[in-house]
Amino acid sequence: MSYQGIAKELDTIGVSCKKESPIAPYTTFRIGGNADLLCLIDSLPQLHDTILICKKHKIPFKVLGGGSNVLVSDKGFRGVIIINKARGWEILEDTKIPDLKGQTLHRHEAKETVEPLQEGQEKIIVRVASGMKIPALMNTLFTEDISGLELFAGIPATVGGAIYMNMHGAKLFFGDLLAQAQILTVDNEVRNVSQDYFQFDYDYSILHETKETVLSCDLVLTKGQSEDA
Ligand SMILES: Cc1cc2nc3c(=O)[nH]c(=O)nc-3n(C[C@H](O)[C@H](O)[C@H](O)COP(=O)(O)OP(=O)(O)OC[C@H]3O[C@@H](n4cnc5c(N)ncnc54)[C@H](O)[C@@H]3O)c2cc1C
Repeated sequence: MSYQGIAKELDTIGVSCKKESPIAPYTTFRIGGNADLLCLIDSLPQLHDTILICKKHKIPFKVLGGGSNVLVSDKGFRGVIIINKARGWEILEDTKIPDLKGQTLHRHEAKETVEPLQEGQEKIIVRVASGMKIPALMNTLFTEDISGLELFAGIPATVGGAIYMNMHGAKLFFGDLLAQAQILTVDNEVRNVSQDYFQFDYDYSILHETKETVLSCDLVLTKGQSEDA
């Protein structure tokens, strides 16, 4: 398959691509073969447009975040690997804050569960780009006195991968903090979907089936208490 056309088109939207490029440096295990084309994207419009361009050219693609939960085959990947480095976050003012419950362990009727937010804590909604790394996000939010991600502190994941896997730290699951997310559907629509949509479970979200891409998400976090975190 020739990647000339798609590489040229991606270049016009400012996405840097390399042909026959190793995927290993973008994963924790640092093994495996080459991608036919490897693209680094650093904004949500680039993530959205790169996927649409892959689909237009009928070329298989795979979005990677931190690469901390993938093992790449020695045969590599026939298609486009998209490394998601889309960063950025903002506080959503005047947004109704849903009353979230820790879902995953409740579903398994576990005795000790963690409620994402304790009574009396001031809640805040933060919209986060899916390529943000969790430790960096946590530290940046601390500077604004926002806490809530501490149980995930050492995990080298991105927000997108954390939703895909319903990442967990101790008894808290990432999905427990999710009010809604903005996803790119297989029909190329950008949709707002709520926590229930993901059917979060242990190491599971509906994204395993739907193959949709998370662009960004709205997390319910805590205002204050970052000094105790
Ligand atoms: C040192 C270490 C410690 C870890 N500790 C924990 C732990 O305590 N708890 C835990 O739950 N896990 C842990 N993990 C596993 C891993 O970090 C998590 O599974 C994490 O959620 C993966 O995120 P990622 O961004 O690295 O995803 P990747 O490995 O890049 O991708 C994993 C899957 O998510 C999909 N994906 C990535 N981004 C998106 C997106 N934007 N939209 C849709 N799909 C997407 C990919 O296509 C792929 O199928 C650990 C891993 C390591 C290496």
